[in-house]
Amino acid sequence: MLDIQKIRADFPILSQTVNGKPLVYFDNGATSQKPQIVIDAEVKYYQEINANIHRGVHTLSQLATDAYEISRGKVKVHINAKHAYEVLFTSGTTHGINLVTNGFASILKPSDEVIVSSLEHHSNIVPWQMLCEKTGATLKVIPMNEHGELILEEFDKILSEKTKVVTVNHISNALGIINPIKSIIDKAHAVGAAVLIDGAQAVPHLKPNVQELDCDFYAFSGHKMCGPTGTGILYGKEEWLNKLPPYQGGGEMIKEVTFEKTTYADLPHKFEAGTPNIAGGIVLGTAIDYLNNIGFENIQQYEHELLEYATKRLLEIEGLRIYGTGKNKASVVSFNIDGIHPYDIGSIIDKLGIAVRTGHHCAQPIMNFFCIPGTIRASFSFYNTKEEIDAMVEAVKKAQTMLS
Ligand SMILES: *Cc1c(COP(=O)(O)O)cnc(C)c1O
Repeated sequence: MLDIQKIRADFPILSQTVNGKPLVYFDNGATSQKPQIVIDAEVKYYQEINANIHRGVHTLSQLATDAYEISRGKVKVHINAKHAYEVLFTSGTTHGINLVTNGFASILKPSDEVIVSSLEHHSNIVPWQMLCEKTGATLKVIPMNEHGELILEEFDKILSEKTKVVTVNHISNALGIINPIKSIIDKAHAVGAAVLIDGAQAVPHLKPNVQELDCDFYAFSGHKMCGPTGTGILYGKEEWLNKLPPYQGGGEMIKEVTFEKTTYADLPHKFEAGTPNIAGGIVLGTAIDYLNNIGFENIQQYEHELLEYATKRLLEIEGLRIYGTGKNKASVVSFNIDGIHPYDIGSIIDKLGIAVRTGHHCAQPIMNFFCIPGTIRASFSFYNTKEEIDAMVEAVKKAQTMLS
């Protein structure tokens, strides 16, 4: 069992007041808060070892390089990649996805097809649309049902030998639905398609096992899993990373440069041009250690309790509807109240110290499906409490009274 009060003490921001009220932070789907150990590690890096990596023989450069590569090794173990060089540092999920779509621009032909799901974040829609525009390939979409679950029989119908890439998120940011990615990966592989999993919403809640999943790419952000902003990881299978051309040209990604020809560096450096977010990359390792110390089984069990409690309490409110009613869910509740715009509720409860996300959550196609402008999204982390959920429910009731 987790000692939530002790955990909360690790996060200095949680003891703040906002608008004169104790902060209730339920916008974890947008970014998580950071524990003191992560904040300290970032400061310590700049105080003690700041230097550029892979470049100098001097001591600090060696220390920085070692710390950066140790962190890569931690990520490799954490996601169970086969090789550390299959783990690329990026600035976030968006960067990772664009790295892949950029690479496929030289592979796809006009007769090829790409499949995305109707539950995707704009970050995992727009780059594929741009790729299809560039190559003439066709974009197809896996539809969902009214519970926010992908309809796999429809996926079977659009999947064919023409399909070259399938991409889906592990967990939907807008609805919290956990997708059956193993089954999607296996079906896609059966027709020879590559699979990219957008793991941005999964990594705060679970430990992905990329070898067991057998996905070809798995992208995520550090800032949603207690790490710093501007950090992320793209895992790619060695065969694919060797096949794809580099994303950016620059320093550190080359073996030899002449004006006639440049040869590229080996993995992972081929995809890591320029000076990266060194501090962030190192500190991402600290965040992963922190989460593993708490334990993902404990996190999941506790967050599931929060999800069930919040769902039950919110449904006590008359006229409240929850979107994403599928069975398999992470700790996210997306809802609306009859006749009231989500933005109005969000603004009023902000005055009461409650931070939720309102709007389309970068997933406009989902909102179009439900014919709504957006939702109110409360996304819970292991440092949240049932008392905070009670405070949100009271605040929403108050807003409802004021607005109706
Ligand atoms: C947040 C998010 C992204 C984008 O992540 P960035 O850190 O902004 O690059 C992509 N997909 C999903 C599902 C997300 O939740």
